Amino acid sequence: MTKGFNPPLIEVRNPRSGAVDYRFMPTDLDTLAQIAADARAAQPAWLARGVDGRAAVLARWVTKIEAAAPDLVAAVTADTGRHAESLREVGNVEKWVTRWSQIARSALASELSPTGNPDVMSVADYSPYPLVGVISPWNFPLSLSLMDAIPALLAGCAVIIKPSEVTPRFIEPLMATIAAVPELASVLHYVRGAGELGAALVEQVDMVCFTGSTTTGRKVAVRAAERFIPCFTELGGKDPAIVLQGADLDRATTAIVTGATLATGQQCYSIERIYVHRSLHDEFVELLAKKAQSLKLALPEPQDGRIGPLTFAPQAEIIERHFSDAAAKGAVIHTGGRIETHGGGMWCAPTVLSKVDHSMAVMTEESFGPLMPVMAFDDTAEAVRLANDSPYGLSGAVFGPEEDALAVARQLDLGGISINDAGLAPFFIGDATAAEKTAFKASGLGGSRLGAESIKRFVRRKALLVNRSTQPSAWWFDV
Ligand code: NDP
Repeated sequence: MTKGFNPPLIEVRNPRSGAVDYRFMPTDLDTLAQIAADARAAQPAWLARGVDGRAAVLARWVTKIEAAAPDLVAAVTADTGRHAESLREVGNVEKWVTRWSQIARSALASELSPTGNPDVMSVADYSPYPLVGVISPWNFPLSLSLMDAIPALLAGCAVIIKPSEVTPRFIEPLMATIAAVPELASVLHYVRGAGELGAALVEQVDMVCFTGSTTTGRKVAVRAAERFIPCFTELGGKDPAIVLQGADLDRATTAIVTGATLATGQQCYSIERIYVHRSLHDEFVELLAKKAQSLKLALPEPQDGRIGPLTFAPQAEIIERHFSDAAAKGAVIHTGGRIETHGGGMWCAPTVLSKVDHSMAVMTEESFGPLMPVMAFDDTAEAVRLANDSPYGLSGAVFGPEEDALAVARQLDLGGISINDAGLAPFFIGDATAAEKTAFKASGLGGSRLGAESIKRFVRRKALLVNRSTQPSAWWFDV
């Protein structure tokens, strides 16, 4: 055990019962250092397999994941209290391996091509960062731990992942699937522990990918800058939806209620504030509240409703503060509006608020719950100003006639914008056909998880310039 770092057993709370029913021993620093050394030693052989060889190993791993799917789904369900999303998390692995294998084949191809100088040919060559560290949050524990790891592996990197201590149950069954594929097991490692282990991981790697809060992301980015290693961050959000004149209100309310309450609103790209043209406002609020009321809490079983418990208990305090602050400043709560306790778990029914403004925390701070505050605007310039009045810039949505909606979207300081839908971007992760996106402002820094270039975050690039002329070059000294 490393001096000064003697981690105690970590206890994990079940979000449905409120009881501690899982415990694990965190990875100590000596073990982390050994894992990093082993992964570095194994990485050259992994790189030497080539893209097709690496894709074949990952495809074999997918078959192990499929075989272990019931255990993985049960583990994620126990940690998050949700069932449908847990199925989707496990299913994502196959989808992402397939998509990113295709991208890797084309994006990392290396062929000689002509340049503007007829004598000189150019060929790109790629050198992966040997060891990538991934630090991930609790809200989609399995998916977010692998979202960057899979493209990094395909690029030829070795990867160490430190998921959140809040939702760690999937790690054990997932490590068993990795162990069943020895070629992968040498270059893909999970370590278990709390924030200090994440900080220690940053010290060991050549590149870090961080998904989580802006507060922690900033610390990780500062340390990465000090170590002079690249740091990809995707952080918090306060995604706006704008509903323009001419929008289909039935479509807009269904998309928004889904985008705001999926996973109980515990998503970085949840719709968290809604701006509606004043002429549509009252009808919109009435329809949204009706649809919000129709969404039932997933009780008594995870399969029984759309709205799961709050996964991370301290989040309830933030949501309660947003409710009381809004109510004290004159907001109207149309439905929901309180934290409920059932069987030891903390729950929040979908909540629609109106008469809100930007003096209220519910319009400016990340709530991370199924909250839908609605504010009226008079013209699109005001809607754009309000949507951009945020420290965050992750994603958002615009509803209305397509040309009008696109014109508004172009003025928003956001990376992924759904037009006449909400939360489309995550469905295109690793999809070569989607455009690239980056986060704006405090929502993150770095390349894109979407689009054909998404894999190139993990490689350093070389330009090999070949002069085929037999004559002296024009820029040489005459010696
Ligand atoms: P945190 O920032 O608290 O934690 C994220 C990860 O960082 C966890 O594994 C955590 O460990 C670890 N960590 C904590 N302190 C340090 C440190 N000093 N150095 C290195 N690692 C550290 O985020 P949450 O888990 O609370 O996740 C919720 C947040 O994540 C929300 O803000 C949400 O918007 C954001 N998020 C962003 C997404 C995106 O793609 N933009 C996607 C999903 C969520 P531990 O938990 O064990 O303490």
